Parts: sequence; structure tokens; C-alpha cells
Amino acid sequence: MSLILVVEDESAIAELIAINLRHAGFDVVIAATASQAQTEVDSVLPDLVILDWMLPGQSGLALARQWRSAARTKELPIIMLTARAEETDKISGLDAGADDYLTKPFSTNELLARIRAVLRRKAPEALDSVVAVGALSMDPGTRRVSSAGIDVKLGPTEFRLLHFLMTHAERVHSRSQLLDRVWGDHVFIEERTVDVHVKRLREALEKVQCARMIETVRGAGYRLTQQANATA
Ligand code: CA
Repeated sequence: MSLILVVEDESAIAELIAINLRHAGFDVVIAATASQAQTEVDSVLPDLVILDWMLPGQSGLALARQWRSAARTKELPIIMLTARAEETDKISGLDAGADDYLTKPFSTNELLARIRAVLRRKAPEALDSVVAVGALSMDPGTRRVSSAGIDVKLGPTEFRLLHFLMTHAERVHSRSQLLDRVWGDHVFIEERTVDVHVKRLREALEKVQCARMIETVRGAGYRLTQQANATA
């Protein structure tokens, strides 16, 4: 499930957005100021941020620029909200690094469509579409993982880990990147945790002869690769 951070000082608007997003199946956290938003992001990296331009103190625009310049938040998907429909504002918002831009008032359907479009572009694992790599297939909607019709039982962390690896196959991910993207935070968890869950995931995949799809890349991290000899 995707976590969305809503940064908006007008609590009625923030609550309305939150209710609609929760109804659509998202987890939602609300922050009323830029510094509260920064605290939330430092604690758990969200999958997407809805960021109001007009905030007391530091503006949404300045916060977006700040996030774009920090390594950990460089890729954070951001949708900016504004009450002003000026074309120059839109350009400034996109220049500051927002992925999309929405003018108030907007409909819930429009907001959800923009969120899904941004997530699809920037974080395909956040969506419920079926993914298949080699002999392995995963349906996040039903939480079913299978190979050649045989189901693989996975714990929630192994499921999220496999989902991330399958939606970012053939690329090498460091332990710290995996902690950030799968666990949602890399600050308080030891990198060894990743090794423990990779071991469990391999043990589960052994049942369908897919354990070797998860490669250890020495000194770099892990990679899921389409394995030619999955039946070997
Ligand atoms: Ca506002």
C-alpha cells in the first residue's frame, strides 16, 4: 500500500484530501507546515507528496526545491497544489521539481488520476498491476506469487521485497536503497536486516526453483534477474 504525505495548512482541505485518499486505498499522513513535512519525510519516506504551495513559514515551492537537492528525496514524487491558476506559477512549480501541478478547486477524481499517473511513472511497484519476471509472477491485488501454477507463500516483508525487486528487475540495489524503498526508512534499521529477508525469500522461492533469480552482487547489493535455467 502506498503512503501519501499531504502537506496543507488548511486542515479542512487536508482532511478532505486524506479521507478521499484513504477511501481509494492509500495510507495518508498530514503535515501542516514545511518543517512538520520534513520531520515526516525524515522518519518514513512516503511514496508521494501532495504539497500545497501556500504554507505558513517556508513555502511549498521552497520545500520542493530543498527535497530535489537532497539525495534521499531527489526522486520523491511531488504533486503541487495551488489556488492560483497563473501559467507562470505552474512553470515555477514544475521548475522547482514538482512532477505535476493541480489548481484548487479540483475534483477527487482528478487528484486520484494525477496521483496514479505520477506513481505509474515514478514508482510502478506502488500500483496493483500483475508483474512477471521469467517464470515468476506476482499479483499485488490478491497477494499471490506463483510459478507454473504453484503458489509461493511469503511473509509481508518478503512480499514487498520481491515486489520491489520484480518491478526493478536486472538492476542492482544496495542494502541501503532496499531499506529505503522496501522498509520505508534506512535510518533505524541495520543493513543486515536486508540479508535476513533475502535469505528467507530465497528459501521460499526454492520451492518453485526460482531462488537463483535473486543474485548477490558482491560489494554492491542484490539484483533480481530473469533466470534462463529456472527449471534446472
Ligand atoms: Ca495552504
